[in-house]
Amino acid sequence: MPTSAPLTLANVTLEYPDGGGTTTALDRVSLTAQAGQLVALVGPSGSGKSSLLATAATLVRPTSGQVIIAGADTAGLKDKELTALRRGKVGIIFQQPNLLPSLTAVEQLIISDHLRGKPATAARTRAAELLDVVGLSASARKLPHQLSGGQRQRVNIARALMGSPKVLLVDEPTAALDHERSAAIVGLLRQVATEFSVATVMVTHDTEFVPLTDLVATMRDGRLTAPVPAPTPSGSR
Ligand code: ADP
Repeated sequence: MPTSAPLTLANVTLEYPDGGGTTTALDRVSLTAQAGQLVALVGPSGSGKSSLLATAATLVRPTSGQVIIAGADTAGLKDKELTALRRGKVGIIFQQPNLLPSLTAVEQLIISDHLRGKPATAARTRAAELLDVVGLSASARKLPHQLSGGQRQRVNIARALMGSPKVLLVDEPTAALDHERSAAIVGLLRQVATEFSVATVMVTHDTEFVPLTDLVATMRDGRLTAPVPAPTPSGSR
C-alpha cells in the first residue's frame, strides 16, 4: 500500500497466546498518523492501547496486517533491520522517564545519540537545542533526583527527539504528574509534534487534554473506531 504518512497501521491483528487458546489484543486495527499530527488514543483499561503502541513501535510483530513506518513495510524486515528502523525513525516515551540515575540531563540525551553511533560534537549541539525546546536549558547539568517529575518527563521527551524521529509514540505521559504539570507536558507534546513535523500518537486516560490533539481514536475490546477530529478547546470558538 503506497503511503506518505510516517505511520500507517493497516488491518493489524495481534494475538497473544493465552492458555490453550489466544487473546486478541488488536482486531483488524487501522490507523494513520500524518507528519505534525498529534493523535489521542483513548479507551478503557485492557482495550489494547499499549498493544497498539508496542506494535507501532515495532517492539511486537503483529499476527497479521501491515505496519508501515516512513514508507517501509516492517513485515519484510529482519530483526536487525527493524532495530535500525526503530532507532532511526521512532521515538518512544513511556509513563516513567527511566533516566539513568548517574547522568545529568544533557548526558541522558548525548548517550542516546552515542548508542545510535552519532558523533559526540553534533550530539552536544543537538542536546543543548532540545533542552532549550523543552524549557530545561538551566537544568542541563542536574541529575534526575535534582529534577521534578515534570522536568524528568521533559528530559524524556527531549531524549526521544534526539534521533530526529518521524514517529513519536507516547504512553500515558502524565500518569505520574499533577494536573498543572500534566497540562504543560501535553502542551509540550503538541508543540513538538508541530515544530518537528513528527507523527505523534499519545495514549491518554485524561480526556481533558484531548482538545490539544488533532484526532481522537477510541479503542474497545481490541477494535479501533475511525479517528474523529478532536473537539476545539473551549473558549477558542
Ligand atoms: P490497554 O493498554 O488498553 O490497557 P493492553 O494492550 O495492555 O490494553 O491489553 C489488551 C489485551 O491484551 C488485554 O486483554 C491484555 O490482558 C492482553 N495482553 C496485553 N499484553 C499481553 C501479553 N504480553 N501477554 C498476553 N496478553 C496480553
